[in-house]
Amino acid sequence: MSKRVQTLLSKMTLDEKLMLIGGKDNFFTNPVKRLGIPSIRMSDASIGIRPSNYMQPKSSTAYPASICLAATWNKKLAAKLGKAVAKEAKSCGIDILLGPGVNLYRAPMCGRNAEYMGEDPYLAGTLACEYIKAVQSQNVAAVIKHYTANNSEYDRLNTSADIDLRTLFEVYLLPFKMAVKDAKVACVMGSYNRVNGIYACQNDFLLNQVLKNKWKFDGVVISDWAAVNDGQAAALAGLDIEMPSAEYMNPAVIKKLLKNGGIEINQIDDKVRRILNLLERFNLLDKKNAQTALKIDKADCEKTALEIARQGIVLLKNKNKLLPLDRNKINNIAVIGPHSHPGVTGCGGSSYVEPNRKVSILDGIRKSAGRDTKIFWNDYLEFQSDKISNIDFLSEKHSGKTETYFQRIQKVAANSDCVVLCIGFNDGTYHEGEGLDRPYQMHETALNLIELVSNVNSNLIVALNAGSNADINSWQDKAGALLHCWYPGQNGGTAVGEILFGDVCPSGKLPISIEKKWADSPSCHSYYDKNKNRKVRYSEGIFVGYRHFEKKRIKPLYPFGFGLSYTTFEYTELKVHKNSSGSVKVNFTIENSGNVKGAETVQIYLQDINCTLARPQKELKGFTKVFLNPGQKKQVSVSLNKDAFKFFDPVKQQWTLEPGHFKIMIGSCCADIRLDTKIKYGYAMLRS
Ligand code: BGC
Repeated sequence: MSKRVQTLLSKMTLDEKLMLIGGKDNFFTNPVKRLGIPSIRMSDASIGIRPSNYMQPKSSTAYPASICLAATWNKKLAAKLGKAVAKEAKSCGIDILLGPGVNLYRAPMCGRNAEYMGEDPYLAGTLACEYIKAVQSQNVAAVIKHYTANNSEYDRLNTSADIDLRTLFEVYLLPFKMAVKDAKVACVMGSYNRVNGIYACQNDFLLNQVLKNKWKFDGVVISDWAAVNDGQAAALAGLDIEMPSAEYMNPAVIKKLLKNGGIEINQIDDKVRRILNLLERFNLLDKKNAQTALKIDKADCEKTALEIARQGIVLLKNKNKLLPLDRNKINNIAVIGPHSHPGVTGCGGSSYVEPNRKVSILDGIRKSAGRDTKIFWNDYLEFQSDKISNIDFLSEKHSGKTETYFQRIQKVAANSDCVVLCIGFNDGTYHEGEGLDRPYQMHETALNLIELVSNVNSNLIVALNAGSNADINSWQDKAGALLHCWYPGQNGGTAVGEILFGDVCPSGKLPISIEKKWADSPSCHSYYDKNKNRKVRYSEGIFVGYRHFEKKRIKPLYPFGFGLSYTTFEYTELKVHKNSSGSVKVNFTIENSGNVKGAETVQIYLQDINCTLARPQKELKGFTKVFLNPGQKKQVSVSLNKDAFKFFDPVKQQWTLEPGHFKIMIGSCCADIRLDTKIKYGYAMLRS
């Protein structure tokens, strides 16, 4: 504790201290004017600044959804995003950004999948760390959320995620631990749900024992909005600020507790000290004026949004090399579907950002196609001018005509060289976002469109906007090409246009496994509380995502880490060096063996061959994205430190290294391993 914080704390009255541990006006903390302690302002967050009553301007850059960032597998881009969002935050007087979110993907239905970074704790943790470090380098505090296991929106305020200790540490807590240890994240947000029966914001094990004692987290724990149910329990468990106001952890409750010995003043002082430290760390104690008139470079923000979309959109299918489209051969394109125009930039709920500009897929295709290509939009419109009238896609507006709406679409599709069908969620059909789960499938409107277009045109390219799977297996045979666009942000349409015409070579890779059917999913028996007792036992344990598909030998439709490219890559010359510090250097060469410039995300998986506990056949332990011109070769080097070899031993209750044989696998995705080798590891450490 600095001298300044110590002095402030010693001067504060009990009432002032208690004011500080509860929020006000939705997104602020209380000031203590007598001592010059300012009110600090928070805002959502990870994909741009959420509009609020207090904010000017009302719109900002809408970056692609976090799941799209995860699909870039690009650490530098995560850092670029963090820096850009933090600068925007500063420019509108925001001190704390309520992101990133790292709840792990368990099922396609979770409403907030798009706000998170996929199914692998290492991937999510690594990208979150880059984002956090960049945000905090701009003197804006980041908040990692939602701690923890808020992996479904269904009944999120009541459900208990019942998770065994090993799974908790190896899977669900890992990205949070990385954020605390590696990125020194300023704040942690407790989630709405219960974990093993106890509300996360009142959970002594999660907050005091693990976060504060085991991981030595010295920052501030804030509650999710109205996630506290019992002020006494929250105060004792280690919650530092109740948001958006001190509804339960309030002066009346705390004073009573202090009086009857239920809590000690040093426990309150610890919360206040943490808050003051945060203010000091981010130069907020000297904050003169919240509305800092800081100019931001909008063009630069847009460029970052575009780059994430370019690198995050995943090409899942490309039958007979339908893509890239050849401008010389394509004379007309039909762009159809509710997501074609205007653009759907993000998912709903608290992460939603009002874009300051929007490029729809239709706009992007018009730009990339060039003037000689005729574009038909939805059922009738041919573009000659820049004017686009909005069509209410779901209603049959053009009454009086003899043809039905679908017949007209079919006619346009039949007469086009190819059709780009833009479908997904959040288009007036099924909502995908915070507060509720969505169905496994898309709405029948989208399914009907696939059916009727594919009946008349085999050059069907589907552009899907969704946070995860949308029962792709049931309709993908009808599509020639399939792009998973997630929610690609305000410049997503530009990226789609560029990818369709080959100006950008797709390089996104799946941060989730896409199952053939829901029954194949690891959580198909453990996603809902079957007995209606509000308990969801995570019975798949550590075998989350690809770990499950590999163990059960179930072939997913598209495996974790998968994504097609317009070029090909060769992997050769694997060499592994162990060094005395315990880290292992994995070196290999990668070459672009195709004809166009492209990028490959190489993934390093590890297998513990003779562990005494069951371990996954593959665990992601490293990755890097390599950019290569045709014919170009690069040496790649990825380090695995000794933590990569450890597992969480539930009996010893600690991360443990068992000396033995390990297999190191280098792959283009988890189901396509290109190089592998075995090493003996850990014996030297045992001796030392
Ligand atoms: C969400 C949080 C968000 C908060 C403030 C809650 O409903 O769960 O993610 O940061 O609202 O907007």
